[in-house]
Amino acid sequence: MSRRTSRKKLEVEVDERTEELKTALSNLTEAHIILKELTTIDAVTGIRNRQYFDEVFEQEWKRAIRQKYEISMLVLDIDHFKRVNDTYGHLAGDECLAKVATAIDSMLNRPSDVVARFGGEEFVEILPYVGKVNACQLAEQIRERVEELTFEGEAEAIQVTISIGVSTLLPADRGDPKRLIAAADEALYKARSTRRNRVCT
Ligand code: GH3
Ligand code: MG
Ligand code: MG
Repeated sequence: MSRRTSRKKLEVEVDERTEELKTALSNLTEAHIILKELTTIDAVTGIRNRQYFDEVFEQEWKRAIRQKYEISMLVLDIDHFKRVNDTYGHLAGDECLAKVATAIDSMLNRPSDVVARFGGEEFVEILPYVGKVNACQLAEQIRERVEELTFEGEAEAIQVTISIGVSTLLPADRGDPKRLIAAADEALYKARSTRRNRVCT
């Protein structure tokens, strides 16, 4: 083989290896993105987790200050959920949590709306650009939707209801985002301490 052909052959080999490395790198980047995405998902319900909520809420809060629009928040709590566990077992409880989470998630309208598991049997929703009236309307629709759900338990159908606290704020420069959560929590407390299965602001 002449020197010229062996050099050509080497160049082709280098090109091939470079292509292989590029593909490997792109696969790795893709795997990394998927992995990062997976860490934002709650294992029991399949919706976003608390960590994701914290990140998105901070970003949305800052964006709302810059662009001067309202944010609404819903805190949703399954009523008497302990009874579901006690009566049907924890696995049925998990399934119930997942079904309720999926139902809540399916009611979101816009890409900017985010629902996450807040912890235990509580969920939270961030609704950027949504005012009080529309937030309450959505909350009421979600409450009704969950009330209509039935899950097949081992012997009988399981039904649950949820209570929802709604808060709305126009974020300000020195405002504390925790106020929005605290206000929704307070409203939820009101809903739960009266007759549950209701929406309060
Ligand atoms: P209330 O109507 O006042 O909200 O009462 P509750 O029973 O819904 O609320 P409580 O805080 O008394 O109990 C919450 C229950 O949720 C207790 C806990 O075991 C259950 N729970 C929390 N996380 C999970 C989970 O991941 N899976 C299951 N199966 N149960 C869970
Ligand atoms: Mg609770
Ligand atoms: Mg509860």
